[in-house]
Amino acid sequence: MNADIRYSIVVPVYNEEAVIDQTYRRLKKVMDLTREPYELIFVNDGSCDRTTAMIKGFRDQDDAVKLITFSRNFGHQIAITAGMDYASGAAVVVIDADLQDPPELILEMIVKWKEGYDVVYGKRTKRKGETFFKKQTARLFYRILKASTDLDIPVDTGDFRLLDRRVCEEIKRLPEKNRYVRGLVSWVGFRQTAVEYEREERLAGETKYPLKKMMKLSMDGITSFSYKPIKIATYAGAVIFIAGLIYLAVLLLLNVFYKSVISGWNLVMVMQLVLTGILLTMMGIIGEYIGRIYDEARDRPLYIVSECYGLMKKERNVKRAV
Ligand code: UDP
Ligand code: MG
Repeated sequence: MNADIRYSIVVPVYNEEAVIDQTYRRLKKVMDLTREPYELIFVNDGSCDRTTAMIKGFRDQDDAVKLITFSRNFGHQIAITAGMDYASGAAVVVIDADLQDPPELILEMIVKWKEGYDVVYGKRTKRKGETFFKKQTARLFYRILKASTDLDIPVDTGDFRLLDRRVCEEIKRLPEKNRYVRGLVSWVGFRQTAVEYEREERLAGETKYPLKKMMKLSMDGITSFSYKPIKIATYAGAVIFIAGLIYLAVLLLLNVFYKSVISGWNLVMVMQLVLTGILLTMMGIIGEYIGRIYDEARDRPLYIVSECYGLMKKERNVKRAV
């Protein structure tokens, strides 16, 4: 660990050849303004375009640039985690590579950090250039997450944030595999505050977060911090069961007192569909948790580093409590 480094900027990159050059330049410009030693850690999440070569090019002229390359695509949250594992700065800033998060805001974050805050997160007041669908689903997700957990996870906040070294150290101790990093940051605690910003359009290239990855992230977020989905299933099951009993009682009473015939296969069909639907949902929710328990039990490493420049290759030595 290099004790001289004051700021570590962690940038996860996945096939960002269209923007990486600009990103590097803007980050460098901003960080040079601090007049303090910093490092730019690019975590290359298995890119298969020119991204890696370009970052190596920056490195040739600039010692502050460091590179970790994964052996394949492990995902955004894992890339951030690796960056935090390797960072040695007194403050660690995580920022997307596509300039949707303005690097200039880092300076404001640093001011707050110097005031004594341990976590300074960027809160988006507006999101530009993203589809209506993405904005609305993201909005809904943050609200559902907030409603389903007791933990105070700030809404409309991505991974763009500054962490003090001690927060970073605490997060490094958390062993879970399906990581929702912004939730973990809230869980860790310490003094947290926000700086607001308008989220820009992606500078170039396409989103690397297709619906499938968004679904995975939201499921990780909710299952990591809440048991409510399982409870909903339990309550729904109980309510339906009682409704079924009442229904049966009504049919029997009608039969006994009014001699009505218990008929209507279509009603039975409806019941059948409702119950099957609920059962399947319950099984699905339970499956989500069991899948994650399985991931933890297998205890595979979070990521595999294939190349490492400017940083000491190290194992993520998280020891489980026994
Ligand atoms: N990213 C990554 N691995 C992935 C997907 C994305 O490292 O599997 C990086 C990507 O290069 C970018 C950041 O994560 O720096 C956020 O991705 P993106 O901008 O595509 O997501 P969006 O802003 O569209 O939600
Ligand atoms: Mg983006």
